[in-house]
Amino acid sequence: MLKRLRHWREDRLIARLDLADQWESAVAPWPVAARYRGEARRRLKDTALRFVLRKQFVAGADFELDAPMRLLVATMAAVPVLELGLDWYRGWSSVVLYETPFVPAQEWEDEFGVVHQSDEALSGEAWPQGPVILSWHDVLEANGADGYNVVIHEMAHKLDMLDGDANGAPPLHRDMDPAAWKQSFSAAWDALEASAATETDDLPLDPYALTDSGEFFAVTSECFFEAPDRLATTWPDVYAQLRAFYRQDPRSETMA
Ligand SMILES: [Zn+2]
Repeated sequence: MLKRLRHWREDRLIARLDLADQWESAVAPWPVAARYRGEARRRLKDTALRFVLRKQFVAGADFELDAPMRLLVATMAAVPVLELGLDWYRGWSSVVLYETPFVPAQEWEDEFGVVHQSDEALSGEAWPQGPVILSWHDVLEANGADGYNVVIHEMAHKLDMLDGDANGAPPLHRDMDPAAWKQSFSAAWDALEASAATETDDLPLDPYALTDSGEFFAVTSECFFEAPDRLATTWPDVYAQLRAFYRQDPRSETMA
């Protein structure tokens, strides 16, 4: 009942904000959006519009945020939860958008109690129970070719954090086997590590994935949606696990 009431309220707001009319042109620059057709496209748009209403979009520094920017970020965020539902993004409320890579204001304490502040500029960041922070320039880098998508990356961290730390294992569905998940990802990790050691430029995945298992899941999730053929060909087991988790098959021709 409460859910229906919320939907009804959101429908009225969406109609009033005239966001729906701007959606097609806002997502046109992102090739992955074209993959969703018919009924799937209608649901993608609906999920994105509700994401815009449920999350607060905040401009970082003096960046000027407009509706098409919000719609594109929301649509990229909607893709991973299209078959899961927006409730998978519970427990946090805002998206901060900077124009360019940003230096995090956050300090962190190491195991010896020493406080550090990084001066490295980031393209995206997801705080546990806190905001997702993104660089707009990096959002625009997603082009369906190299597997890069900072929004999907940070949203994957959010899904991973639903059951605690970002450790590479989001809450799996009942019909999934955690041992098989772990086995597939460990094998892919070992293979990437071995390839990276040969210093070839032609790696199937950004070696940043090897930072830790949370990053490995986030980077493979980007590749799953942006360059599914590459991931499915390189590591069919990882592809199958992600397909079971996201309940989508980005390789299939008819996502309608
Ligand atoms: Zn990350």
